[in-house]
Amino acid sequence: MSTDENKQETMGQEGPVYECVRCARRVSHSDLQRYISFRCPYCGYRIFRKVRAPVVKRVKAR
Ligand SMILES: [Zn+2]
Repeated sequence: MSTDENKQETMGQEGPVYECVRCARRVSHSDLQRYISFRCPYCGYRIFRKVRAPVVKRVKAR
C-alpha cells in the first residue's frame, strides 16, 4: 500500500454551491469543476450565482 491520499475525510462539508441563474439548479462546486468552463450540466448556461452550502439552521426551540 502506498500513500493514502484519501485519508482526509470531509466531514460532510462540501465546497460552495452554485446555482444556475437560468434553471436554478444547484450544482456543487466539486461537481461543477468537472465540466468545462463551468457550464450548467442541465441547461448549458454559464452564469452561476454562488449560494451558500445548505446550512442547517438552528432555530431556538422554546
Ligand atoms: Zn442551468
